[in-house]
Amino acid sequence: MYRWHHGMGVLSFVFLLMHPVLLTGYYLPLGADIAEEYLSPLNPQSTNILGWLALVIFTLGMFTTFCLNFSYGFWRRSHILLILAIALGFGHIWAVSGFSISLAVALLPAVVPVGWRLLHADRSGDTLPYEVSAVNHPTEHITEVNLRPLAKPISIAPSQFVRAAFFKGSHFQGCGDFHPYTVSHITKDGGLTLSIKALGDCTWNIQSIEPGVAVRLQGPYGNFLLSRPIAPEIWIAAGIGLTPFLALLRSQPVTQHTDMIYIHREGERVPYEEELQMFATSQSLLRIHSLPMTNDLTPLFIQLDSIDNLNKKEVYLCGPPPFMAKVTQWLRKHDMHRQQIHFEQFDFR
Ligand SMILES: Cc1cc2nc3c(=O)[nH]c(=O)nc-3n(C[C@H](O)[C@H](O)[C@H](O)COP(=O)(O)OP(=O)(O)OC[C@H]3O[C@@H](n4cnc5c(N)ncnc54)[C@H](O)[C@@H]3O)c2cc1C
Repeated sequence: MYRWHHGMGVLSFVFLLMHPVLLTGYYLPLGADIAEEYLSPLNPQSTNILGWLALVIFTLGMFTTFCLNFSYGFWRRSHILLILAIALGFGHIWAVSGFSISLAVALLPAVVPVGWRLLHADRSGDTLPYEVSAVNHPTEHITEVNLRPLAKPISIAPSQFVRAAFFKGSHFQGCGDFHPYTVSHITKDGGLTLSIKALGDCTWNIQSIEPGVAVRLQGPYGNFLLSRPIAPEIWIAAGIGLTPFLALLRSQPVTQHTDMIYIHREGERVPYEEELQMFATSQSLLRIHSLPMTNDLTPLFIQLDSIDNLNKKEVYLCGPPPFMAKVTQWLRKHDMHRQQIHFEQFDFR
């Protein structure tokens, strides 16, 4: 859905840019005066001003999307600019051709989802209350947060994720924005566990979270490991990208021959390694390959090369985007079809 949204945004931007280009091609042959009257941003007619403002704001919104250096919070707020650009664009059409039924029909699919998002979703309208019931630290930089539902629990399956906002505790500072986390364990009474790696402001702060902190959850989202073709599988988990696989292993034994490659930093105490080895010992279909690695992916590629009939298997990947891009590229070069490669990307941009 996210990539679809991204693609549609870019496509609509390209279409929008074609509009002034085509108009220039139409008016310029009629004379410079006429072209200036209809196209110049300096011409104080409402049609021109609205059209140009929409284009400039749309361009700024797209710029912040592709400029990855901005912080996530700034990027997200600047993305809201695009709503203003679309409103001005409709104003421009209204000023050019007056109000019409077709304009009203075109407005509906823009207004309804944006209205729902701003008035309902962003105001916590679809969230459920939870409370932190316990906190563990499997390693120095990972915090396992157990959550207890205070009302109806979210109906969620292993490998899906929630968006969580943590509120202030007696010592804990809170983490107001909603952040996505894959659940790493689901209990029968509706309790959930999130395994959170310290990465930036919010996740570092979460390292000091305490039982009793109020949490609101949105979800469930994602379908990473939900319906899988019946075939031998290779799971590749990089670092905290382990969580969807961990949730699945904690819920049921594997049903296909599964080679799991767990990549972690060299020298660190390896989170969850003992638990994974326990699963491998008790399940004959599961093999765990624990791979200490730096940024050089050669050991992973050697490991993958050693797997028999690699291109007859389904591959499931989870980790940071640059890692996934390199591994996908390698798999494609080794005769794997796009449809055999499934992934969950721990990044929304
Ligand atoms: C589908 C999905 C599942 C994830 N599951 C886990 C998990 O199980 N365990 C885990 O430790 N991490 C998980 N993450 C990553 C986690 O969401 C980010 O590490 C966290 O949001 C970083 O926030 P920060 O303020 O600490 O860091 P920042 O330094 O502010 O951000 C680091 C990166 O995280 C992303 N990010 C920041 N804030 C948000 C936000 N509010 N919403 C979405 N993305 C944001 C941005 O891409 C940013 O570049 C998951 C991410 C996604 C998209």
